[in-house]
Amino acid sequence: MKTVVLKFGGTSVGSTDRIKKICKIIASYKHKRNRVIVISSAMSGVTNDLINKSKLMSNNFDKAEYDTLVSSGEQAACALIAGRLNHIGIQSRSWMAWQLPIITEGPHSGSRINKINVKELVRYLSSGGIPIVTGFQGINKNFRLTTIGRSGSDATAIMLAKFINADECIIYTDVDGVYTTDPRQYKNAKKIKKIFYDEMLEMASLGSKVMQPTSVQDAKLNNIDIQVKSSFVSKSGTLITGKKKSFSDQIITGISSTKNDAKITIVAVKDRPGVAASIFKPLSQNLINVDMVVQNMSLNGKETDLTFTIKSEDLKKTEKLIKNNKKIIYKKLSFDKDVSKVSIIGVGMITTPGITYRMFQALASKKINIQVISTSEIKISVLVSSKNVKKAVAVLHKEFKLD
Ligand code: ADP
Ligand code: ASP
Ligand code: MG
Repeated sequence: MKTVVLKFGGTSVGSTDRIKKICKIIASYKHKRNRVIVISSAMSGVTNDLINKSKLMSNNFDKAEYDTLVSSGEQAACALIAGRLNHIGIQSRSWMAWQLPIITEGPHSGSRINKINVKELVRYLSSGGIPIVTGFQGINKNFRLTTIGRSGSDATAIMLAKFINADECIIYTDVDGVYTTDPRQYKNAKKIKKIFYDEMLEMASLGSKVMQPTSVQDAKLNNIDIQVKSSFVSKSGTLITGKKKSFSDQIITGISSTKNDAKITIVAVKDRPGVAASIFKPLSQNLINVDMVVQNMSLNGKETDLTFTIKSEDLKKTEKLIKNNKKIIYKKLSFDKDVSKVSIIGVGMITTPGITYRMFQALASKKINIQVISTSEIKISVLVSSKNVKKAVAVLHKEFKLD
């Protein structure tokens, strides 16, 4: 008998009709004599709505109460699924994170799961029932509710698959797999049959929201294969794996792009050892994630221009921190909110020379200006004006024969 973990995302449980539909999917696994565990997100829109309400209460809403509030959507979704399954004659009950418990570590709204007590779930599975577990939430050592980052139900599913030693972990979503680029943004995107953890991790971190980056990291660390499938149409999906057998010889696997980036340039900073550290220390203390960084020497060698990118939601705070930073002397600060990062990702890059040139040449052919560049072994990212993102994705998709 196989143990399967099925995770349903917000759109998949977005209405009572949708919940009735996914209950049929769940039932089909049961009828094939699997031991089935379900993880659910909140119904789509619910978490966003709760976040907006917290903002109406306070612009500095208490972090622990924030987690208690925003994790509540999952409770409703799980109860609706369990209730429906019972209605169609399948034994089922819901579990919230604290009832197991799912233990997390780290700051509120950015915690990580480090243990799940599966004892009760195992007992319930043995009695033939289907447990429905809330995604996204946990408890910390002070018994406060925590959340594990937006889209965190993906990570709950993967960690549960690990602790229950599942044979399969299937992420049901509103697309039928991972595509070469967001299929809603680019109609020639193609479904990827198999993708390596590292590639998926880069794609997810660089803006492909189909999987939460942390969850892919968890899968890689624990060697858990993930299948991404549609809950809307019955089609084969994508396998995310570390296994190397029979992969295609495609050099570039996928293209990601971001929204909500901002670029900051500090012009003519007095250059001396430690200056970059002085700039970034207060940002890191305030949990502001700095992404791409470039530093240019001035001709006289005494000053430097420092450019870096952050999430645009952090722009105001960053501006204030830099202006209040007595440790740096500079001439001017400039900001650009309309920038996006476009990245090409693929393990094939490691063994193929000339990819950077082809990427830059393709962008140049469409007169797209590159503002900042960053690379790793398996990805090249460029910062471009947001208005050029669609054009950039399209020309790169063609250049690397993904169409
Ligand atoms: P869920 O609510 O099921 O977790 P998400 O909205 O988090 O679903 O993720 C699915 C969405 O991810 C799709 O609707 C799609 O628009 C988007 N997406 C972005 N990049 C990709 C990609 N490369 N492949 C597939 N989907 C992608
Ligand atoms: N409901 C949460 C969110 O919207 C978690 C999830 O969807 O996975 O971020
Ligand atoms: Mg998601």
